[in-house]
Amino acid sequence: MHSYVRITPPLVRSLLRSAAQQRSFSASAGRPAQWGFIGLGQMGFNMAKNLQKKLPSTDTIRIYDINTAAIQKFVDETKATGSGAAVEVAGSIRDASENAETTITVLPEPSHVKNVFSSILKEPMSSDALSTERLFIDCSTIDPASSREVANAVHSTERGRFVDAPMSGGVVGATAGTLTFMLGAPEALVSRVEPILLLMGKKVLHCGEQGAGLSGKLANNYLLAINNIATCEAMNLGISWGLDPKVLGNLINISTGKCWPSEVNNPVKGVVEGAPAGRDYSGGFGVSLMKKDLGLAILAAEESGAKLELATRAHEVYTSTEKDERCKGKDFSVVYRYLGGVE
Ligand code: NAD
Repeated sequence: MHSYVRITPPLVRSLLRSAAQQRSFSASAGRPAQWGFIGLGQMGFNMAKNLQKKLPSTDTIRIYDINTAAIQKFVDETKATGSGAAVEVAGSIRDASENAETTITVLPEPSHVKNVFSSILKEPMSSDALSTERLFIDCSTIDPASSREVANAVHSTERGRFVDAPMSGGVVGATAGTLTFMLGAPEALVSRVEPILLLMGKKVLHCGEQGAGLSGKLANNYLLAINNIATCEAMNLGISWGLDPKVLGNLINISTGKCWPSEVNNPVKGVVEGAPAGRDYSGGFGVSLMKKDLGLAILAAEESGAKLELATRAHEVYTSTEKDERCKGKDFSVVYRYLGGVE
């Protein structure tokens, strides 16, 4: 326990204590807890590091990724700090989750989440005592229908409980442990899941039943996708009429056009200090991730029958921007460059 008591602030400490109390389901009181973490990519790697660092040294975190270089890097970096939970490398997806009270997944797309859970659920698990209380927290951004499908598979096979907790805050937030999680879970599970998520983030918004976290995340990102294109177009338009970019940016940001892309992530260099436009659109939220989230929002809208007038065209814009050699791999505000904006 010594290591995390030293490094965590009082609020997190008290949440940890309550998380530890909630662990009583795992086995006899006081037994060290085991955690599974699957998906050590840009987000997962940093989230797992925060989790490992804040857990007591009596706990164990079993990590798995198909990318062995990511696993090695995790082992090396956590060994160097010498504190927090013990780290073990799992030999398979099943091995990471089978004996874990809590398994966290951070995977790219719906197909990955479905594949990972079909491996987890394929055969009965050895530690069936855990089955009713085993908790799976999926932080991947996927469509709500796929998430519900996986949740149903987990629940109908009685292997545990599955909740969705997609996040916002990007790699910077994952590294700093300041992510915001949008949680889809039954009310009864919130008090158990929230303290765990707060080891990797700053805020947890409970959006409703399982799947609701993803619905909230995709509705927000749909708006973001449209606002970004509109901001790029409006800036390009005003500048083509001879307006100074800073004057136009300031005007928008005290007027009704104000939005996150205009105020924080303005696509024109020099308008907002620190925005990706000022560093050749590097870092930030990648254009391919925006395209992916927009695609998921479109899919989810089709399933619910909600009409989206601008979605298809916006998706085409992101597809073309992503293909443009000058824009590939850049922050999504690079749409301004794709439109031919003056730089
Ligand atoms: P990433 O591609 O960097 O990482 C995904 C990891 O999953 C990779 O390391 C990959 O090897 C691993 N993986 C794939 N299939 C696997 C399998 N079968 N078993 C084990 N590991 C497997 O993706 P990311 O940027 O970390 O994003 C993860 C999720 O978080 C995505 O759904 C993304 O949309 C969402 N998200 C990302 C950001 C961001 O800024 N990157 C922000 C918010 C949300």
